[in-house]
Amino acid sequence: LVLIKPDGLVKSLTGNIIDKLSESELIIVGAKIVAVSKELAEEHYKSLKDAKFFNDLIKYIMGEYHARRVLALVYYGENAIERVRHIIGNTNPEKASPTSLRGKYGRITTTGVFENVVHASSDPSEAKREIQLWFEPHEICKPIFETNQIEKKIKTLEWK
Ligand code: ADP
Repeated sequence: LVLIKPDGLVKSLTGNIIDKLSESELIIVGAKIVAVSKELAEEHYKSLKDAKFFNDLIKYIMGEYHARRVLALVYYGENAIERVRHIIGNTNPEKASPTSLRGKYGRITTTGVFENVVHASSDPSEAKREIQLWFEPHEICKPIFETNQIEKKIKTLEWK
């Protein structure tokens, strides 16, 4: 799972980020814009709930410092995690290689928020958890995980 975080979108970096990620030679099998809810943000970052920067991180990913939009992408292919994380660079934009996405476009704010522009899953089990958290099976154009067929009665919206 790759997320172009709210700072990446507000700074109009979507094209630059996707262009650079194409060097991975992976394919995109899912993509959507998401207005991140508190529940989604907290579930996504639940392993960091005891970190001192947790509240700021939740506000950041929900777009409170920029705009409430994230672009969620699923990249598929051999060694996808390693390749993507190499391109995005170190978590800390000041430590990231200058040619990596976070090195190029990230910053640390005066209040200490790591605005590092992109998220990428850190290992296969996290990738599975995160992709299944952000996407429904029908939103991904390749059967990357097992599914069950169910009948569901749900309230949803239609165009007027
Ligand atoms: P990564 O995103 O590189 O996998 P982590 O999972 O450790 O790194 O952290 C998740 C996110 O939390 C980071 O991308 C960054 O936005 C934020 N973060 C991590 N460490 C810090 C820190 N020391 N101070 C402020 N924000 C941080």
